[in-house]
Amino acid sequence: MNSADAGSIPKSIEPGSRIGVFGGGQLGRMFARVAQRLGYHVTVFSPEVGGPAHQVVSESIYANYDDLDAVGRFAKSVDVITLEFENIQLQAVEEAMRWCPVRPGAHVLSMAQHRIREKTLLSELGFPVTPFRRVNEHSDLEGLETITGWPCILKTAAFGYDGKGQRKVANESEARLFLDEVRCEVVAEKIVDFSCEVSALVARNPSGEVVVFPLFFNRHANHILDLTLCPVPSEFQSITKQAESMAFEVAQSLQLEGLLCIEFFVDQDHRLMINEVAPRPHNSGHLTIEGCQTCQFEQQLRAICNLPLGSVGLLHPQMGMANLLGDVWQRGIPNFKLAMEDPSAALHLYGKDHAKPGRKMGHVTIWGDSAHAVEKSLRDLRSNLSGTAR
Ligand code: ADP
Ligand code: MG
Repeated sequence: MNSADAGSIPKSIEPGSRIGVFGGGQLGRMFARVAQRLGYHVTVFSPEVGGPAHQVVSESIYANYDDLDAVGRFAKSVDVITLEFENIQLQAVEEAMRWCPVRPGAHVLSMAQHRIREKTLLSELGFPVTPFRRVNEHSDLEGLETITGWPCILKTAAFGYDGKGQRKVANESEARLFLDEVRCEVVAEKIVDFSCEVSALVARNPSGEVVVFPLFFNRHANHILDLTLCPVPSEFQSITKQAESMAFEVAQSLQLEGLLCIEFFVDQDHRLMINEVAPRPHNSGHLTIEGCQTCQFEQQLRAICNLPLGSVGLLHPQMGMANLLGDVWQRGIPNFKLAMEDPSAALHLYGKDHAKPGRKMGHVTIWGDSAHAVEKSLRDLRSNLSGTAR
């Protein structure tokens, strides 16, 4: 899908320029490597010394996101800033915007950082979201069952990721306990009896060009993404047009500058509901590295530099990606040779030292002819890597 708005064209940021990245994780690492391939320089700003992105760039700034002096120095030293982690204080983003463009901008970040603002804005714009209520104190739990029923899911409104800050609660007293524990703003959500989860990744550049990637089909385990397939399995093909055009509309409505991923629930009647959005590259988009002519990181680069967006057609009939969490290291160093010997597989490791359970250490991508065969190969390869099948 492709469109361009009329009007004056903002300046492009050409190869040779310096790009700043807020966040030092694997998404920044994969972005930086693509940016370097195209002749850009990259500076990474994050508090964690030696993180995956810092390891691959020539300039690092180690400071807290609320250190506005450091943010100002950072912004003055680069031509544009993007992010690989959305929970940056808005004050820091606003400080950075005094010196250079920050893409996506503060209005998109402010929405994506806060589940209640996100759901409220998206539903005001006419997009379907999970039934929810803002819950601040015990009295907000009164009558909650009319919206969410019991059990429901409580999520801290800000700073959640990979299922952190979430709990399924069976009744009002369990909900009260959660509120007392977290002591912050919370959103209560109806538990969706979904038939599957999908995600749509969209890029928009400041000139108004929009490109949507083919839809991703996602399986989660313990609230963490486990496996992605693209194209989606044939029984869900009917929803792809609708999800992709919703992603296009969201990007246009927000006047997005950069990359944004929309996570959807698909209910039993194949209706779509937005779960959440992430204004950055997404774990489900990792298979675009080998699977699309332009991967999500290059598309992010093109979008924030106001360059023409790239083609996103699939290079193989079926792509699949499985995350390698720290659990795969449980029996020692995994047998990586198995992935290297497979001509239809690509192994990615993020350079993290400590393989804790649940920690994203890497991923493996496999391509083939059918969703079923690729999913089976991914599961077999991953269990062989960790030695669990030996
Ligand atoms: P995170 O920011 O941690 O990714 P999500 O809201 O996307 O948080 O939740 C992670 C996963 O937990 C979802 O992808 C889904 O599998 C499950 N989940 C979250 N909210 C709901 C819900 N309302 N109904 C059913 N499953 C849910
Ligand atoms: Mg999510």
